[in-house]
Amino acid sequence: MAIHARGAPPGGTPERAWAVWLLYFTAALRSTLPPLIDSLAFSRHGRSYVGRCCRQRGAGGPPGTHAAASRGLEPAGSTRWAGACLVMAELRQNIATHEWVIIADGRAERPTVYAEAGRQPTVDRATWEPGCAFCPGNEEDALEVSRSPGERWRTRLVRNKFPALAVDGALLRRYEGVERRLSGVGYHEVLVAHRHHDTTLALMTAREVRNVLLALQKRGRELAQDERVEYLVYFKNHGPRAGASVAHPHCQLISLPVVPGEVRRRLETATHYFDEHGCCVYCFMLDGEQSQQQRVVGQHPLAAAFVLFAAQSPFHVWVMPRHHRASFLEATREELAGVAEVLRQVLRQLYDGLHDPDFNLMIRSVPVRERAWAYFHWYVSIVPRFSRTAGFEMGSGIRICPAIPEECAEFLRSVPAPTRG
Ligand SMILES: [Zn+2]
Ligand SMILES: [Zn+2]
Repeated sequence: MAIHARGAPPGGTPERAWAVWLLYFTAALRSTLPPLIDSLAFSRHGRSYVGRCCRQRGAGGPPGTHAAASRGLEPAGSTRWAGACLVMAELRQNIATHEWVIIADGRAERPTVYAEAGRQPTVDRATWEPGCAFCPGNEEDALEVSRSPGERWRTRLVRNKFPALAVDGALLRRYEGVERRLSGVGYHEVLVAHRHHDTTLALMTAREVRNVLLALQKRGRELAQDERVEYLVYFKNHGPRAGASVAHPHCQLISLPVVPGEVRRRLETATHYFDEHGCCVYCFMLDGEQSQQQRVVGQHPLAAAFVLFAAQSPFHVWVMPRHHRASFLEATREELAGVAEVLRQVLRQLYDGLHDPDFNLMIRSVPVRERAWAYFHWYVSIVPRFSRTAGFEMGSGIRICPAIPEECAEFLRSVPAPTRG
């Protein structure tokens, strides 16, 4: 192939050309990574988050460990990755999404530095705020879709006051040359998750969290009947760094008339894995995490939670039902109860251990018309927000995680779990 011939040295083979490119890439990475990581230094609450080597924080390690570690891949079962510290920056790939991350040792901090010192935690808010449109008594009836279970509601569904998409209108497509348009029709709704202003999923009972999931699922099933709906995005923004503009506990639901490219890519990756290995990559991940236990942070007969091996941010957690099911809309009441139990436990440990950090939560599921897939597996993703996306991430699609996932899992497990119920 021409590209090989161009890259090959005189008389070289395509394989040699690739090897040369790999060497160039490795050398370039080694020279650019440290300043690149330095450029990501940020501060919170007046504290500078400039990285410290794990040796500086007392983890120890024999002289020359860094050099030894850089010589090649560790054999399977090596204890070097067994949780203490990394001795060099490491690229890790999520096998389900094919996304790469950089676990940056130079910035690797003890998990406790992510505790949100000095902020007012949710529990210290007033139970009722006179100016909050989501508090009981302040309801804007014109926006209300439904309330459950009745007049004295526990959850309430309302249309977003400033929707991203319009409910009314036909789905029109217009493709002209480079211009590809689709009318912006869809639903943008808010689920008010509790009557109280001073609570959040972490502070609710497992039953209340289950009711939130049930309410999202119920509405998702209704919206899936609309033939203009192709995909449903369920999410929660908690805290200003996560994009939340309203403090009252709530989740959002947006329907789309298309399947987003990023979702399509994940589905294709999962399909490819199934074709290659004959099993669901998410079931495989769950089994692997379960047998290894290193990153598992929550257990239930019907669900489990683990910090991702290739975490995109410190404490990036997936909560996954054990039963293979592609669609959130198909999950049983019992499965949702299991996921709710683990979800609430992990969120509570994040809340207690890191002083109520900002986070985004997403329910990932298949497109509404592709429910019976063997390839995909619905789950909940929790992404705490400690830094902002910058040019490197936008340019490469690669996130830099300045904390070691195994240490984050260990820290979370050390925070007392809430009592069940
Ligand atoms: Zn409120
Ligand atoms: Zn599965």
